[in-house]
Amino acid sequence: PSLDWAPHAAHGFASLGTAFSTRLPATPLPAPYLVGFSREAAALIGLGADAADRPDFVETMTGNRTRDLAPEALPLASVYSGHQFGVWAGQLGDGRALLLGERTGPDGIQEIQLKGAGLTPYSRMGDGRAVLRSSIREFLCSEAMHHLGIPTTRALCVTGSDAPVRRETIETAAVVTRLAPSFIRFGHFEHWFADDRPDRIRALADHVIDRHYPACRDTAQPYLAMLGEVVERTARMIAHWQSVGFCHGVMNTDNMSILGLTIDYGPYGFIDGFDANHVCNHSDAQGRYAYQAQPQVAYWNLFCLAQAMLPLFGEGQHAVEAAQQVLETYRTHFPRALDALLRAKLGLHAVRDDDNTLVNDLFKVMHENRADFTLTFRHLSRVSRDDASQDASVRDLFIDRAAIDRWLDAYRLRLRLETQDDAARAAAMDRVNPKFVLRNHLAETAIRHAREKDFSEVARLLDVLRHPFDEQPQYEAYAALPPSWASTLEVSCSS
Ligand code: AMP
Ligand code: MG
Ligand code: MG
Repeated sequence: PSLDWAPHAAHGFASLGTAFSTRLPATPLPAPYLVGFSREAAALIGLGADAADRPDFVETMTGNRTRDLAPEALPLASVYSGHQFGVWAGQLGDGRALLLGERTGPDGIQEIQLKGAGLTPYSRMGDGRAVLRSSIREFLCSEAMHHLGIPTTRALCVTGSDAPVRRETIETAAVVTRLAPSFIRFGHFEHWFADDRPDRIRALADHVIDRHYPACRDTAQPYLAMLGEVVERTARMIAHWQSVGFCHGVMNTDNMSILGLTIDYGPYGFIDGFDANHVCNHSDAQGRYAYQAQPQVAYWNLFCLAQAMLPLFGEGQHAVEAAQQVLETYRTHFPRALDALLRAKLGLHAVRDDDNTLVNDLFKVMHENRADFTLTFRHLSRVSRDDASQDASVRDLFIDRAAIDRWLDAYRLRLRLETQDDAARAAAMDRVNPKFVLRNHLAETAIRHAREKDFSEVARLLDVLRHPFDEQPQYEAYAALPPSWASTLEVSCSS
């Protein structure tokens, strides 16, 4: 397939008009090199696994070839606003992201966005750049989440350059090429609500409905139906996060996708030793975005979206009540989605009154013991319904053996109410409880090597994370408990 990005100008977001974005070229980076590449993401835009071998690939994905484009073919930075850490932040926008264009692949249209490609009119105090460290983290996690079956933006590649970038220390620049059917955020709607432009809120909603939620058009109230879709997709996304111990870290409304995709991977983390109050972002002193808070924060963010869409719902109290009613569906969608995921993780098919208690008790004993989130669930499939002979791999993860034994006995009794035998249940559970997740220390090791220009660990880690549910004996070390140095790792908003 050709890497001729002629369809630059054709991308749909530009059809909204010039108020919504600014066209400009990327700022080139000197002597870029390839750091990582995802063949599955490439396939989404009709590129082969060898696309990165093309001589122009790295320059293109660093944005270095956009200078010569015709004005109507230039990349585009969009404007949005948002609530950051619960406070209205006013105008933000694509401060370092540029929409290169879009391509239609086997699953439909994918927008292609470069993150870290230089200053835009929305850069504010920032430098328009992204560092190698955070770009590798975003690249790996985007693809890891996809392979876990979690809705997410995708990452085609990371390119790097020796150009210095100042953060707490001097680091080097990188660009992540991201893919998504749309990068529109809740904050895009909030922006025009704050600006008192109902015409533009409507234009944005029409754009989103036409391209992404076409079925809403056929309903009595398309805008309310669209809000309903966003509520449901967001609920499902958050349920997935909770089910694998994923913490996003910066759930500001400008980091919430209108398509219910996980977006903007910054100081995220997969929980190692389970703490329900785990805060992965070192900059989040209040713990606003703690693991346990994520479901409620998503609801709060949806409330902001609903408020921003209010002018589309009609007049006065009637509109408010209609919006409220749609918003409230979160309170059924979220628990329903989470319940289904957790039942599968425990291998429960039948529905029993006490199942919630059983699940809650497991989280409680995990929390009290700081038991490893991923391995606890992964090892549950080894428990036998007949006797305690297979319990060791679970109980070894807990300090309070008596407490986990009590729970395992209750679990065993419950399993006897299932018709599946141990082997069938174990196979099904291993398909939903990942063995491999992107633990912080794994990403950190790949980053340390990459800083020395050895990108093989980025490739290897991506390879591991492509099959999170498989045993992969050659990669056993990637499933192990984190080493002691991992507890000193800190990730923050610095990226
Ligand atoms: P984030 O916290 O990464 O979601 O970013 C919040 C806002 O700050 C967004 O508008 C970003 O585009 C912008 N931003 C973050 N880092 C930079 C940077 N280095 N240069 C310019 N803008 C940035
Ligand atoms: Mg962001
Ligand atoms: Mg960001």
